This record gives sequence, C-alpha cells and structure tokens, in this order.
Amino acid sequence: MKIQELTLTAPYLSLDPIFYHKVAPAPLQNPKLISFNVEAAELIGLDPAQISDEELIALLNGTRLLNGSQPYAMCYAGHQFGYYVPRLGDGRAINLGGVNRWNLQLKGSGQTLYSRQGDGRAVLRSSIREYLMSEAMHGLGIPTSRALAIIGSDEKVAREKWEKGAIVLRLAPSWIRFGSFEYFFHAHKHQELEHLADFLLQESFPEFVGVEEAYLKMFGEIVKRTAQLIALWQSVGFNHGVMNTDNMSAIGITIDYGPFAFMDTFESGYICNHTDAQGRYSYDNQPRIGYWNLERLAHALSPLIPAEKLESELNKYGDYFTTYLMELLRAKLGLDAPCEKDSDLLRSLFTLMENGRIDMTPFFRTLSRYNGNREQLLALTLAPNQLNEWLNQYDERLLLNTSSTELRHEKMLRTNPKYILKNYILQEAIDAAEKNDFILVNDLLTLAHNPYDEHNEFERYAGVTPLHHTNLKLSCSS
Ligand code: AMP
Ligand code: MG
Repeated sequence: MKIQELTLTAPYLSLDPIFYHKVAPAPLQNPKLISFNVEAAELIGLDPAQISDEELIALLNGTRLLNGSQPYAMCYAGHQFGYYVPRLGDGRAINLGGVNRWNLQLKGSGQTLYSRQGDGRAVLRSSIREYLMSEAMHGLGIPTSRALAIIGSDEKVAREKWEKGAIVLRLAPSWIRFGSFEYFFHAHKHQELEHLADFLLQESFPEFVGVEEAYLKMFGEIVKRTAQLIALWQSVGFNHGVMNTDNMSAIGITIDYGPFAFMDTFESGYICNHTDAQGRYSYDNQPRIGYWNLERLAHALSPLIPAEKLESELNKYGDYFTTYLMELLRAKLGLDAPCEKDSDLLRSLFTLMENGRIDMTPFFRTLSRYNGNREQLLALTLAPNQLNEWLNQYDERLLLNTSSTELRHEKMLRTNPKYILKNYILQEAIDAAEKNDFILVNDLLTLAHNPYDEHNEFERYAGVTPLHHTNLKLSCSS
C-alpha cells in the first residue's frame, strides 16, 4: 500500500475525553531521515518500495497526517520507584491512530497536556537506543514495541548538555500500561476504570470478550505474560532499568526503553540506571518487581474483580516465571528433556559466571559449539577451575540427551545469540550519527534482526566487551 492509501482509526477516542488529550505534533527543525525499518512497514501494510524519504520525514515530523489520523496523548499514572504519582501520561509521545492492530506513536514530537515541566522532546542518543533496541528485542523473540523509522534534526534540546532532537515512530498492539488503570482507580473513577478494562479486552484480548469472568481472565493472562517477559529478559541478561508501573505494558511487551542495558560480564546485582542508587530495578530484582507491579495492577482492578480471585491469579506468577525461565535456560544449555538436577546445574553455572567475570553472550555462543574441547570456554573466565568442574557435570548431563551432538549445536546456535546490542556498540552508532553518519545505525538494525547469524564484517561486536565499557551505568536523561 502507498502512504496515501493507508487509513488509521483511533478507537481510543471513543472513550470519555478524560482518557486523552488531542494535540498536534510539533515539527522539528531541518528533519532528516536516519533509518527506515522495512520490516515494520510491512506490519502496517505499507509497501516499503513505494514510500519516499520525504514522505517518511513528513510522517514522523507530523507535517503530514495519514488519513483518519487524529493525534492524541494518553493519560496515565504510575508508581515511580515505589511512590505513587497521580498524573503522568504521554508527556512526549503522540498517538496517531492504528492500522492492522498496530498503534502508531511518535515519541519526541512536542509537549502535551501531560508534559509537566518537560519539553516534549527526545534526544538523538535515546531515540537511536529505543529504535535499535526494540528491533533487537524482536530479533531475539522477546515481546516488544516496534519501530518504523527515526528522524534527526537541528533542533537544540537541553539535557546535561545541548543535544539534538529526534523522533521515533514506534508501534505497539497496545499502549495501555499498568499505570493507565492506576490513574482511574486512585482518582476513584470506577466507571472509567471499567471502560478502560472493556477497551483493553476489545483491543488486545478479544478471546475473552463476552466470556464469563472476562476481567479476571484478562488479568490472569497479564500475570502470565509479565512473568514470561521477565523470564526472557533474565535469560539474555537484559536490565530494563526503569520498571515503574507506568512503563509496564498491559499486554506484557517491553516498552519505554530508557537507560536499559544488556549485561556485559554477568553480575547478578547489576544496576544499569545511574539514578537507581538502591538497585530497586537491578537485574536480580526484576522478577520480584514484576510481581510488585502486578500487585499494584491487581489493587487498581479491585473494584472490578473480587480480591481473592485476583490473589489466586497473582499467586501463579512465581510458578509461571520459574517454569518458563527453566525452559529457556535448559534450551540455552541444549538439554533435551528436564531432569531433577538441572536447577543445581544452572545455579552453579550462574555462580561461576559471576565469579569468573564471564561475558554471558560469548560464553553461551561458544558453548553452542562445545564438543569436549574446553580451551575456548576456559579462555572466557577468570576462574577456570570452577568452569572445568562445571563442564565435568555438564558432560555427564549431556549423556542424558537423546538427540545428536550436531542437533544440539544447531538448536543452541538458534537459541544463544551471537550479537546483542550492548551499550558500547549502540554508543558507537550514536557517536557516528551525531556526526551525520548513519551507516552504523542501519548496519546495527540488520544485526538486531538477525542476532543468531554470522556477520563476518561485524565479528568485533561478538566478542567480550572491552573492559572500560563493561557494565557501566547510564543516565536516565533522554
Ligand atoms: P519515562 O521515564 O521516560 O518513562 O517518563 C516518565 C514520565 O515523564 C512520562 O509521563 C513521560 O511522558 C514524561 N517525560 C519524560 N521525558 C519527558 C520530556 N522530555 N517531556 C515531557 N514529558 C516527559
Ligand atoms: Mg515511560
């Protein structure tokens, strides 16, 4: 489809006006296209070959509205670092409407009613991070918002220093957050709360519409998806960094990429967010925080669902999480069928990864070709004796596998990525883009989409992270 044939709808605007604020995007000065993601164009039925750079720039810069597009910002609240904030909302995101079940949103396109003191802008640095990381998560099979394109500009934006404004057009099947429900619950607007629950059912859980106890079933599904999502994050060493309830998707996808990081060397207590002094959102706290956030959602839904039923769904979280994580980790080790002692084997692996300062991505990738020769694996650790002992146990465990070594290698190479976009890699692309060189952004998009493939020209990004770039913390400013 050509861009002029694309028609959006905005069912969210059928809700009471308290749910949103209609606002037009504010264009950036001298916009330029940095990257266009053909895969995402196809999601919304747009023929990538039939869209020009000028059309894309106009779409992202808000100077050209698609048919049916009615820009609006959504209202929500949320618990930020454990404290309730009664009104947040899209302070710098503007929704354009949806097509093919994908809702289009511009991030960084100016102020809205919910901007508070913010300027409504997003800087090039954080926009490149969001653009590439959402696609990288998708490439890894992790539920996430997607990104269609990114534009840069000459517009000056004040952060710790002057930076340049940028806009990402991002897509999600839903932009409703835990905090959307909290907003209406804490404002004692129970009627509106019900309308929101009905809307989410229609939009994202149509299988439960008209079913008995539909709200409860929807909540149960959110519990399950959240547990699975966080198990996936843990399995690849992803630290989100700002798991406030306003950043928790009601459909269980990763949203709102900020100071996130893929861990370099494995460190269970790793904190990627510089402002998170207490480590509330550290890597090993993520599963617990997922539960805490679901408790906040359950509380917000309490006018609609009896407390004991919410409680019984919440209680399933731990099992969902553990079962799914064990499944993922077994696959990372190439184990065919579960065995009682697997959790011990895995626990000792994570301890030795931490003790030996092992970079988990190259480690699991090297393990994916393990055939008894330990040399390459031992070179990855500072505690080789521990790894040697563990490999003895692993050798023994592999004897229980019924499939061939070749098949194990093949499966593990499709499970353990060769390329993940670590922060230092993203930073190289950002540094180049600041100088108007967008080649690396586009090359990293290819790596993001194909993380299990060999890309010989990017071998340098597959190794251990250089020490001076390892496990750094990132500023929240974006
Ligand atoms: P975040 O930490 O990015 O999830 O943002 C938390 C809240 O602050 C959300 O309501 C955002 O819309 C809002 N916000 C963040 N940055 C800005 C900005 N530059 N201008 C306006 N609102 C912002
Ligand atoms: Mg947010």
